[in-house]
Amino acid sequence: MANAAAASFASLTAKLDYLSAPDLEQVRLAYRFADEAHLGQIRNSGEPYITHPIAVAAQCAEWKLDAQALMAALLHDALEDCGVTKIELIERFGSPVAELVDGLTKLDKLHFNTREENQAESFRKMLLAMARDVRVILIKLADRTHNMRTLSDAPREKWARIASETLDIYAPIAHRLGLNQTYRELQNLAFCHLRPWRYAILSKAVEKARSRRRDLIQKVQHEVETTFANSGMQVRIAGREKTLYSIYKKMDEKHLSFAQVTDIYGFRVLAPTVTDCYTALGTLHQLYKPVPGKFKDHIAIGKINGYQSLHTTLVGPSGVNVEFQVRTEAMHIVAESGVAAHWLYKVNNPQETSNGDRLGSKWLQSLLDIQDETRDAAEFWDHVKVDLFPDAVYVFTPKSQIMALPRGATVVDFAYAIHSNIGDRTLAARINGEQVPLRTELKNGDIIEIVTAPVSTPNPAWLSFVRTARARSKIRQHLKTLGQADSQGLGEKMLEQALRAEGIEKLPDEKGVNELVWEKLLRFSGNKSISELLTDIGLGKRIASIVAKRLLTLLTDGGEKPDALLLTRERYTANEAVSQGGVVLDGGENASVRYAPCCRPIPGDGIVGYLGRGEGLIVHADDCAVARKLKHKDSERFIGVEWSDEPIRTFETEVLVTVTNGKGVLARVAAALTGAEADITHIDMGDEAAQDATDLRFVIAVRDRSQLETALRNLRRTPSVLKAQRVKITQ
Ligand code: MN
Repeated sequence: MANAAAASFASLTAKLDYLSAPDLEQVRLAYRFADEAHLGQIRNSGEPYITHPIAVAAQCAEWKLDAQALMAALLHDALEDCGVTKIELIERFGSPVAELVDGLTKLDKLHFNTREENQAESFRKMLLAMARDVRVILIKLADRTHNMRTLSDAPREKWARIASETLDIYAPIAHRLGLNQTYRELQNLAFCHLRPWRYAILSKAVEKARSRRRDLIQKVQHEVETTFANSGMQVRIAGREKTLYSIYKKMDEKHLSFAQVTDIYGFRVLAPTVTDCYTALGTLHQLYKPVPGKFKDHIAIGKINGYQSLHTTLVGPSGVNVEFQVRTEAMHIVAESGVAAHWLYKVNNPQETSNGDRLGSKWLQSLLDIQDETRDAAEFWDHVKVDLFPDAVYVFTPKSQIMALPRGATVVDFAYAIHSNIGDRTLAARINGEQVPLRTELKNGDIIEIVTAPVSTPNPAWLSFVRTARARSKIRQHLKTLGQADSQGLGEKMLEQALRAEGIEKLPDEKGVNELVWEKLLRFSGNKSISELLTDIGLGKRIASIVAKRLLTLLTDGGEKPDALLLTRERYTANEAVSQGGVVLDGGENASVRYAPCCRPIPGDGIVGYLGRGEGLIVHADDCAVARKLKHKDSERFIGVEWSDEPIRTFETEVLVTVTNGKGVLARVAAALTGAEADITHIDMGDEAAQDATDLRFVIAVRDRSQLETALRNLRRTPSVLKAQRVKITQ
């Protein structure tokens, strides 16, 4: 057993001659560590498990990946399966290697289990987005390639799932990154395990056709070689055969029989320069007649994955169609290896500073241009990603549906992306099973569950953190309709109160004898309806007392007399803000009422209401200096307000805590606050390093003043607290 492992590692080291001696030693250490970690584990084939990581590393060596990537390849299954910790990997092999292994372990946890095409695309993007380094994806593809090569050893009932995942997810990723050789191999292996019978039949048919046409192919090869030799151009000519999977797909998609698939054989011509490619094409077109409409110039316009080549189909001897691809050697490296060409090219041309058009692919070139000398793989990957897909984050619904959202999107954005009904009723959320705040930013691969409640409504505070235009407009829309109804109710209360201050007990009925009174009032105010007038008052666009005075005139014109006693009492109380008939506040008023940030009033405080211009009612503490100043110049806009006996929510207020600096002080202070059941919603810290005493500012949510007093008392009893007081601007 141990011998098998050692032998397979020896075959790996034979491929590592491009590494420096110290790098090679590091790879050897990683191998020994992995070998020990996997000791006793065996593969389905009966071989020691370590042969798998070695094979993965060997594939990475084919791409000439660096020592860190090779070490990560050797260690890629160690974190998950062997009880090795990330810390241990950092200590032994450094954090870049540990990060690569960690990235691979995270990808392993994602499972794709739907057959919907657009979902597969999102899943692929998610995988790519989650890898913070292109090497993670390359090692992952190497891992999948080896697992596919050995899939026949696995129990047969696993074949279909693994093979279709390979076909839907990994092969297209390889294609997207331009790793065409891997792409073709993965497709073929998947096909072989998904449709074993069809694969076997097709394979026999191709074998037959090959021997039947052997003479023809040899003839074409000979004629082409002679022609180029005569023209004096140095080219490399190679025959190539379509994969069974691509033949199968063509038959399937175009409903053809095998005999009808003519372009099974093709040739590749590798020319020294781009100009030579076009010259070579001309030479070929003189030799055989081109099939009209089959010529494609993928050099001038490369494919998105960096592939460049000239394609043409020619009518060969005996009228058989033969495909030709013409490209430079550098283009060929990119065509076969895609992003991995980045490393391949570096190793093959160490003295090359400017990759220039020698590298072939403009795509890869544009990526390389952005890099500096360091050639950092993570940075390189960032540029590849920008090229491949826009800035997005991919997350799951609880039903494994994948959703794409812009980066920075929050739980609330997600809720609105599902449906505006969900968004509007969002109460709480769980990410990966844990309760999180609604402002939490989403990360790739998160599973998000929204908890809704029928009575829940959008909170204006959401507007400060949502990222998507959809969520923003839906929240605004909801608040607008909600604010409308609320403002109307508030306006009605305010107008009634102002009318009482004029000595009239209540608003006249809208219908009946007073219908005309309202009509005249609307003409005076310029409103279309009573509800519009009341809403305007509620929003502070119209002053209640002025409207009330006009209404009084209209009513007395009609014979109604003000009640003198009521008049005196209401005027007195309204002005003194200790009103009996004031607007009652319970915290459920929504957007039309705001609590002033200068004094942050809480139940138990004396309060006054100020009708801001167009911004609804602003509630101040009655001893607030800001409110007093306003009252001095704008007393007309003040109305009586009072707390409800049963406020429906907590209110935020600010406390200032002066503490001596020391370990654990903040924790003790926070504990004192939560001991009084006060929720901390915001903390501001002074420059603690500078002095031995620091001011901490807390915004806390409390039910009322007595709870605040308890909190302050708790704070004052806490060691290292020098002072604790409420923050309020008073005179
Ligand atoms: Mn593996």
